[in-house]
Amino acid sequence: MFAIPQRNVALSKYTALKTGGTAKYFFAVTTLDELKTAIHFAKQNELPFFIIGGGSNLLALDTGYDGVIIKISLHGIVFGKPVGSVVNVTVAAGEILDNLVAETVKKGFWGMENLSHIPGTVGATPVQNVGAYGVEVSELIETVTVFDTATGKVLSLTAEESQFGYRDSIFKTVMGKRYVITSVTFNLSLNPQPRLKYADLSSYFVDCPQPTQVAIREAVISIRSQKFPDWRLIGTAGSFFKNPIVSRDEVKSLLQKYPTLPVYEASEGLVKLSLGFILDKICGLKGYQKNHVGLFHKQALVLVADAGATSVEIEEFSQEIAEKVFVKTKLKIEFEVTRVE
Ligand SMILES: Cc1cc2nc3c(=O)[nH]c(=O)nc-3n(C[C@H](O)[C@H](O)[C@H](O)COP(=O)(O)OP(=O)(O)OC[C@H]3O[C@@H](n4cnc5c(N)ncnc54)[C@H](O)[C@@H]3O)c2cc1C
Repeated sequence: MFAIPQRNVALSKYTALKTGGTAKYFFAVTTLDELKTAIHFAKQNELPFFIIGGGSNLLALDTGYDGVIIKISLHGIVFGKPVGSVVNVTVAAGEILDNLVAETVKKGFWGMENLSHIPGTVGATPVQNVGAYGVEVSELIETVTVFDTATGKVLSLTAEESQFGYRDSIFKTVMGKRYVITSVTFNLSLNPQPRLKYADLSSYFVDCPQPTQVAIREAVISIRSQKFPDWRLIGTAGSFFKNPIVSRDEVKSLLQKYPTLPVYEASEGLVKLSLGFILDKICGLKGYQKNHVGLFHKQALVLVADAGATSVEIEEFSQEIAEKVFVKTKLKIEFEVTRVE
């Protein structure tokens, strides 16, 4: 089947922040062949292309996209036969992550329950190494299958080759952007493995050290509902900024001044700081609003945009927040959201 592009498609309909102008061309691809056609179309017309999934981590610009937007709508979930206590599942990139989580919980396969209710598609999860409540997808990924747009070949990358870091991977690098993820294979466990280290979860289960998977999924959904707005109704991309990762020395004086600042161990002897706490308790910015853009009144890390917000407004606002954080803490914070450019 040949895919045919739509023209002048409003990006606000395809992004959770609900901003942006139009895409010159837009393909929604449901097969590998359609994906190849869309890439070929872009190359033949000497146009850039940009891959989207559910649009929940994107800032589409008011100026639109003068190229080809390719929405990945590949579907299919295949569970393997258990080997010992491990079962693998291979999932096409366009599947909705939360449907997958619900399915694995239903089947009693452990690993994904802490990732409940994260918006978006499975194919985007390796890109920023999606994580929540003490679990990152990189811990579960066996391989990532990609279409290499430079060579036209399909490759399988191991977790190591995917170079996962905190909200980071090879797929975010200039080199890695040539890869379109077509499916992901996860390793799940038949053995109960409750992961309750994260403060919100450990206090939720203080009287119940061995909760079921269903109970963990329900807890995560309940905790998230108190922190995030409903992205289907309100413009948001969830956490707009990354939590800062720094050395203990760098934040010694900050920690002396604010001893209750939550600090988590990160890799290579570094620590991850709670930016939500910094924005709220140190900078007093929870609920701060300017015109159409604000920091959510229930969780300062979450940027919300009212109807009518422009990408320029969002970028100016987030820049202002970054400056305010720097003035108070000397920390340089980074944006988690990707610009469609
Ligand atoms: C309310 C809310 C809560 C959130 N909570 C969390 C959270 O707890 N933890 C977390 O980590 N994130 C969270 N996010 C961010 C977001 O859900 C994730 O980043 C998610 O993985 C994005 O999926 P998507 O399909 O919407 O990707 P998109 O937003 O469409 O794309 C994101 C990036 O991935 C690339 N991409 C997408 N699909 C592919 C593909 N198949 N191949 C190659 N590149 C691809 C895009 O080019 C882009 O760079 C939240 C967002 C919202 C709105």
